[in-house]
Amino acid sequence: MSNFAESIKPHAVLIPYPLQGHINPMFKFAKLLHLRGFYITFVNTEYNHKRLLKSKGLNVLDGFTNFSFETIPDGLMPMDVDGDVTQNLHSLRDSVRLNFIHPFRELLGRLYDSATSGLIPPVTCLVSDSFMSFTIQVAEELSLPIVLLYTCSACTFLSGLHFRTLVEKGLIPLKDESYLTNGYLDTKVDGIPGLRNFRLKDLSTFIRTTDPNDLMLEFIIEAVERFHRASAIVINTSDELESDVMNALYSMFPSLYTIGPLASFLNQSPQNQLSSLDSNLWKEDTKCLEWLGSKEMASVVYVNFGSITIMSEEKLLEFAWGLANSKKPFLWIIRPDLVIGGSVVLSSEFVDEISDRGLIVSWCPQEKVLNHPSTGGFLTHCGWNSTTESICAGVPMLCWPFFGDQPTDCRFICNEWEIGMEIDTNVKREEVEKLVNELMVGEKGNKMRKKAMELKKKVEDDTRPGGRSYMNLDKVIKEILLKQN
Ligand code: UDP
Repeated sequence: MSNFAESIKPHAVLIPYPLQGHINPMFKFAKLLHLRGFYITFVNTEYNHKRLLKSKGLNVLDGFTNFSFETIPDGLMPMDVDGDVTQNLHSLRDSVRLNFIHPFRELLGRLYDSATSGLIPPVTCLVSDSFMSFTIQVAEELSLPIVLLYTCSACTFLSGLHFRTLVEKGLIPLKDESYLTNGYLDTKVDGIPGLRNFRLKDLSTFIRTTDPNDLMLEFIIEAVERFHRASAIVINTSDELESDVMNALYSMFPSLYTIGPLASFLNQSPQNQLSSLDSNLWKEDTKCLEWLGSKEMASVVYVNFGSITIMSEEKLLEFAWGLANSKKPFLWIIRPDLVIGGSVVLSSEFVDEISDRGLIVSWCPQEKVLNHPSTGGFLTHCGWNSTTESICAGVPMLCWPFFGDQPTDCRFICNEWEIGMEIDTNVKREEVEKLVNELMVGEKGNKMRKKAMELKKKVEDDTRPGGRSYMNLDKVIKEILLKQN
């Protein structure tokens, strides 16, 4: 049992949205607070916690000082963790809205009891994913400060704030399905200060609905309209990356802070007992790092579509043959649930063709792969974590955005930062082959690599002592998380 008489640590309870792409940045934020002396309670859903234990081993979470995991049920039909799949996004969204507040309140009650018994320090603040906005109500009930962590780009944040106006102007929802393909999505988005030359198709794909009562749109609008009630909002971005957008946002939210990219922040932070622990829900294949070690400097294309993207078998085969025909070495992560309708069997012809230069595994330690000297390019779905992790490693990208905020990220990668090229949604092997070659050995790829390295240095400046994100984190800690009520 811990004895807290020696020092009453501030105690932060952190709760991510229950998806991999939200858990990872929240876990990084938890590590940063832990390094700054906080006692941390990290709250996962029971399903995700079981998956974490399965991927890391049953005892892996034992023995950390001033850091504990707690769980709450997700209110969904129980699923077998051996399936290793992401839960249905719509069911999860509805359950977050309806079912999470009670178990979260109960958990805080249990933590209160433990603190009263002297087992843990009393809870002093909450840090919640911005899309778990029920937590604001709980913070208000308990008079605790609450910081929301926004895990996507500031640009996605800004555009989400304007969804209601887009509805009121009649720009969304779409009149009918034909608007998805008749050029309507090329319509310029005017009247959002901070967004330059944006088209409807560059905004989140959640606006591409024909349903006036679309639940995802409603969910986002409901969440952003609660943002003002939080003590502060922190975004996993840096002013270097999104200055125009941030300037627009600063005038709207006095308590908004860039504290990222978190990958860079942690890379430059001191190491402690938690450093070796990550929050991946799939078991990482580490032999791919040895394989990378056998390849030449910056020669390997790393291919990963994140934790949610799914595609048809036809599309997967276009990627497969495009990669094979490029003749470049590649490391491709194919999750068990990547292909719609189940696992794919690649032909022996393909396996023979790539045997001397391709490796396929089902999950990897992505940041280690991106930072490996042999990795020269990243074919990505443009999730915000993947985007920022690639920038923090100075690796240029090929972009195949799938859904949600990914088209927005792709726009920044290709047009604002010029460190990537886009692959058409209707992917064809010839295009993959051509763009892979351009990225890895072409002149354009070379320019992008240089720009990516420059951007890496800039975000490192932002996240080291004296940098904007670094100072912002200090400010959020001192002025909000440590504030006495
Ligand atoms: N990730 C990983 N190994 C993999 C695939 C993904 O470690 O094989 C991590 C990746 O580093 C990132 C997260 O999972 O932190 C995926 O988040 P992202 O926002 O890129 O995409 P999402 O999965 O939310 O679509």
